[in-house]
Amino acid sequence: MFSKILIANRGEVAVRIIKTARRMGIATVVVYSEADADSLAVEMADQTVAIGPAPAAESYLVAEKIIAAAEATHAQAIHPGFGFLSENAGFARACAAAGIVFIGPNPDAIDAMGDKIASKRFATAAGVSVVPGHVGEIADGAQAAKVSHEIGYPVMIKASAGGGGKGIRVAWNDRDVEEGFAAVRAEAKAAFGDDRIFIEKFIESPRHVEIQVLGDAHGHVVHLFERECSIQRRNQKVIEEAPSPLLDAETRAAMGAQAVALAKAVNYNSAGTVEFVAGQDQSFYFLEMNTRLQVEHPVTELVTGIDLVEQMIRVAAGEPLGFTQDDLAIKGWAIESRVYAEDPLRRFLPSIGRLVRYEAPVEGDAGGYIVRNDAGVREGDEISMFYDPMIAKLSTWAETRLEAIDGMGRALEDFHIEGPSQNLAFLAAVMDQDRYRSGVISTNYIPDEFPEGFHWVAPTHFQADLMTAAGAYMHRLLAARARRQGNGLAGPLTRTEWVVAIDKAKRPVVLADIEDGLVVTLPDEDRALTLTDVDWRPGRSLFRGQLDGRAFTATIEQADEGFIIRHRAARARVLVLTPLSAAMHERLPEKVKADTSKLVVSPMPGLVVTMEAVAGQTVREGEVVCIIEAMKMQNIIRAEREGVVKAVNATAGDSVAADDVLVEFA
Ligand code: ADP
Ligand code: ADP
Ligand code: MG
Repeated sequence: MFSKILIANRGEVAVRIIKTARRMGIATVVVYSEADADSLAVEMADQTVAIGPAPAAESYLVAEKIIAAAEATHAQAIHPGFGFLSENAGFARACAAAGIVFIGPNPDAIDAMGDKIASKRFATAAGVSVVPGHVGEIADGAQAAKVSHEIGYPVMIKASAGGGGKGIRVAWNDRDVEEGFAAVRAEAKAAFGDDRIFIEKFIESPRHVEIQVLGDAHGHVVHLFERECSIQRRNQKVIEEAPSPLLDAETRAAMGAQAVALAKAVNYNSAGTVEFVAGQDQSFYFLEMNTRLQVEHPVTELVTGIDLVEQMIRVAAGEPLGFTQDDLAIKGWAIESRVYAEDPLRRFLPSIGRLVRYEAPVEGDAGGYIVRNDAGVREGDEISMFYDPMIAKLSTWAETRLEAIDGMGRALEDFHIEGPSQNLAFLAAVMDQDRYRSGVISTNYIPDEFPEGFHWVAPTHFQADLMTAAGAYMHRLLAARARRQGNGLAGPLTRTEWVVAIDKAKRPVVLADIEDGLVVTLPDEDRALTLTDVDWRPGRSLFRGQLDGRAFTATIEQADEGFIIRHRAARARVLVLTPLSAAMHERLPEKVKADTSKLVVSPMPGLVVTMEAVAGQTVREGEVVCIIEAMKMQNIIRAEREGVVKAVNATAGDSVAADDVLVEFA
């Protein structure tokens, strides 16, 4: 076994690999860019080596620097993690040439499988069913249109070197192909340095089901069953689970056998993933093979009990697999939620910034379910524009799917992040949706269920009750404190009759203090709420407690007036008023919102790539106004209605902030 390995990656996956290496008694070397000098991975590693500036092209993607770091620190092997050099056969060969073991498959397998065009040809030859399409490189827009006609719309334009949902676009007609072909090509060139494009049939409303495979250097290959990753936005996975609610035992075995056959055909000798799109009828087609550790590997680890990073290290060191297919079984159910720095209220556009507050749920047995959080950040760290916007991967395991989902809902409540926008409330919304809970999902789930992006949902009865009780509790605690500090305005503490307003809904209450809690009588409803086990102090963002015995955690923001309380996907302004001021409140005029319909604002921080709008021009609805690049993605900004351009406030090359006014209409 190795005594020291180098990790050629950053963030959560670097931390993930360090944890297993440590448990195996292997020392770790972490390489880092200038942006990551103070990162958690750097703090945890036994040794570190600086490899250059923040842009990955000048640090994490420079093979020579990484191999030099391994040589200088006498690391015997390199784990590439995912992304960066993980699927780069040239890098794997360079490691071998330097006498360093690449912890991944052999370079020929990467060549055969790591490229989408090559792997589809290979899979076809191996008898695996593939998505119909043109398995070859497309030269230009004209050929793209011709091929698309032959395949029949809708089609998917894909970068052969693509990954992480980048370099993919659906086209429904010629116009989409024209626009999409150039955009995918530019995106592929920027993200992967490779602009080869192919086109295949777009399977409508499919499910994404993938098989985890694991091989060794002695010809053994097993599969560790499937993961379902159908909850996606922009073709990027957001929520994954294992097993898949779609598959029956027979289909599972058939898919597993195909994946193993494909892996065996390339002498696959590491962990890898064979991805399929599947119909609701369990028909399935090969998509691609990822020749690396997969982001969502934790759900497989949770249901099989196998540590995939450990297995990768062992087989790389030449050990034969210590188990056969028959030794493997699925136990229970696991869900993973990717916590992204993005704004679900703005159609999931990426966000960046400092983690002013970062509090993750406690890992381990939570009573009925297990919590695991894979993260590479701490409070105070920066989510920068240079790398992936993922903040953490939160996973839960339980005996059944619904218990794992409920555990995820609770774990998400206990996650608190301030700074960049994040998708915690969105993730919680999915956990609470009947359709998700039913398991009848597809890759269209997010566009179907959240066509305009995420919006706050109305509080359920339970949520309205907990907001009432928590609001009243905080109000009482703050009033008592103000009184102790001699603030005469705090009012008499002896008052027990109040009105709690949850947004516009007002509810008379009668309050009675109990230890670490409050009894809230609702005279109009002829019942009472009992709040107990409260864990909250003024200034704290998380309010924990039990309402009528049911545990909850809510997020608190102190507003100018009252509190903003969020519980999962519901959010409301909560005011605690005296009956008199409640009556006065009724008569206050509402603030009118500014009219922004005549403005085109930047939906995210980014770089203006092109500005199409010209002052004086008449723009039709849906016409392209400008293109903004953020997180290496080109985002087309279109006019939401017809109008005459009055002013253009940005030009190509400008960097803009979220909400900057780009174009004004007359
Ligand atoms: P899939 O390739 O099927 O989406 P995963 O979600 O496991 O499978 O992996 C996505 C891959 O793309 C990973 O290698 C991940 O590190 C990489 N990736 C995702 N987003 C980015 C990004 N913004 N920049 C660089 N790499 C990324
Ligand atoms: P990446 O390397 O970026 O992961 P994939 O080829 O795996 O690229 O595709 C990413 C996602 O896009 C898939 O998980 C699936 O949801 C969707 N997708 C890809 N190809 C097709 C297709 N032909 N039809 C329908 N959906 C597809
Ligand atoms: Mg994929």
